Amino acid sequence: MVFELLGGIARLFNSLFRELRFRFYDGPVFHRFLNHKYPYYSKLPRRLKLKFLRLVKDHYEYFDYIERDNLKLKRAMKAIIASAASQLVLFLPNTSLTFFERIIVYPDFYNSKITHKVHKGEVNPGLRTIVFSWHGIADGLNRPDDGLNLLLHEFAHALWLEHKIMGHEYQVISPKWAAEFENYAIQEMPKLQNDSEHFFRRYAFENMHEFFAVAVENFFERSEKFKAHQPELYRILVQIFKQDPTQFYASNSKQKSLFR
Ligand SMILES: [Zn+2]
Repeated sequence: MVFELLGGIARLFNSLFRELRFRFYDGPVFHRFLNHKYPYYSKLPRRLKLKFLRLVKDHYEYFDYIERDNLKLKRAMKAIIASAASQLVLFLPNTSLTFFERIIVYPDFYNSKITHKVHKGEVNPGLRTIVFSWHGIADGLNRPDDGLNLLLHEFAHALWLEHKIMGHEYQVISPKWAAEFENYAIQEMPKLQNDSEHFFRRYAFENMHEFFAVAVENFFERSEKFKAHQPELYRILVQIFKQDPTQFYASNSKQKSLFR
């Protein structure tokens, strides 16, 4: 009885300590960094910023980050990777992406041990691992509106695979809207494949996985154009991610400061 009570008090102090640490240290540190470096975060309304920061902290601490080929993964780099994961799952169940445990980062494009081809990134569900090249990540971040974003692309693959592998145990994406997406893709992919002017790059038409990953990149990076070109597909993605990125463009100049 006494031990249970002591255990309860210890847990209470632990969660209080974590909350204070978030309020006075981690939260403000991530906030100052992301407000300058991560446009999706800067545009979020104030009430969602705190939620986003908590998710970033969780993803920052949760994944086992592994450096390859002499890359030194700085804290800022880890924060950027954690932010992309948080962007995708901001409104999804908090089990999302927990199937994956490891994030490997190479400095440059690398030779995959699995496909024996040069890769910018890949997802390996067997090893519960997501792999990136920092070169590929930086390319995506430097051009934030071209519909190419390696971080979102690979995390979208991870989420889709998690939905397929773990869907019977826990829900990541609503099965109804995932099925809507597949129906849309099956009908539209052959038509779009012959359309050289298409809004999506050709790589999207390789298979369902790539179609989803490219759709996600465009959903977040070129939301307005995507909505105008393919309103039905855009609407399905709004349902899948439970967010509409075109709604986040309100000026944030009048937002009250988040931390004191
Ligand atoms: Zn891909």
